[in-house]
Formats: sequence, C-alpha cells, structure tokens
Amino acid sequence: TYFELDLFVNEIIEELQLLAKKSQKIISRHTGKFRLVTLDQNLLRNCIINLVSNAIKYSGEETNIEIHSSITAKSINITVKDNGIGIPKEEQEHLFEAFFRAQNTGNIPGTGLGLHIVSRYVKLMAGSISFKSKQNEGTIFSIKFPLS
Ligand code: ATP
Ligand code: MG
Repeated sequence: TYFELDLFVNEIIEELQLLAKKSQKIISRHTGKFRLVTLDQNLLRNCIINLVSNAIKYSGEETNIEIHSSITAKSINITVKDNGIGIPKEEQEHLFEAFFRAQNTGNIPGTGLGLHIVSRYVKLMAGSISFKSKQNEGTIFSIKFPLS
C-alpha cells in the first residue's frame, strides 16, 4: 500500500520534537514532485526514530536537526543532519557494528545497537545507508531506496 512520505515523516518528527532538548528544533522538508511510496512503514519508522534520536542525543541544546526527504525518478532518499559532536574519523568504520560506541560519547548513555539495527532494516528494505561525519562539527546520515 502507498503512503505519503512527507506526511509520514512529519508525524514522526512531531513526536520526536517532544524528546528534543530545550531549544533544539527538528526541521523537515520534502522535495520532488511525488510523495507516494511503498516501503515497510514499521521498519522505516524505526530507522527514522533511531537516526533522529541519535541526532538529538549527540548534539547540543541550541542546534537544529534537519530531515530532508526526497523522491526522484531513481530513488527515495531520507537524510538526517545534525551539528553535533560528530564521529572521530578513525572510528567511523565500526559505526554499524553491534555495541559500537565512539570514544567521544563521554557520559551520554547508549547501548550501541541503534545503528546496527537501522543498517539491517535498511537492507531488509533493499536500501542502502551512508554517512558523513566530522568530529565537533556534525553528522549526516542518508538512507536510500532505489526505485525500479
Ligand atoms: P542506542 O542503542 O541506544 O541507540 P547508541 O546511540 O550509543 O545507543 P547507535 O545509535 O548504534 O548506539 O550509535 C553508535 C555510536 O555511533 C554512538 O554511540 C555514537 O558514538 C555514534 N553516533 C551515532 N549517531 C551519531 C550522531 N548523530 N552524532 C555523533 N555520534 C553518533
Ligand atoms: Mg542510538
């Protein structure tokens, strides 16, 4: 069954905004002519919640978190961008391993399972996940589902 991606994302974000820190704003935008997609809603919701929760948790009080969903002729794309603590370069290769936590998390709590699960869910949905991150600057995660 088809659903409207932009509305779906916005509903999730509305709930997550309640979990955000005091002046963190979660901003979402959608680009592309099309809105209708067929993806597993439960898996996708879980992925978005995990990525945005990380963005909230690993960035400061006064920063915005940006979610961009887009649909092109070739793929459905969702990116989550923060201006947080970032992931040290030398640790990035371990990011999707179960129980991995970077050195710079300090006393921020976590189990290191969220991204491992996200990467498996994305695979189940025939998609791919990638990221770019710089320590003390921020991180962007991108999940992509090819359209045939
Ligand atoms: P949880 O299982 O509760 O999600 P977690 O957040 O520690 O715990 P993951 O979501 O799997 O686990 O993330 C793994 C590690 O990757 C984190 O511990 C952190 O070091 C790093 N990380 C993930 N997302 C971000 C982010 N947006 N900014 C900075 N570091 C991040
Ligand atoms: Mg997490």
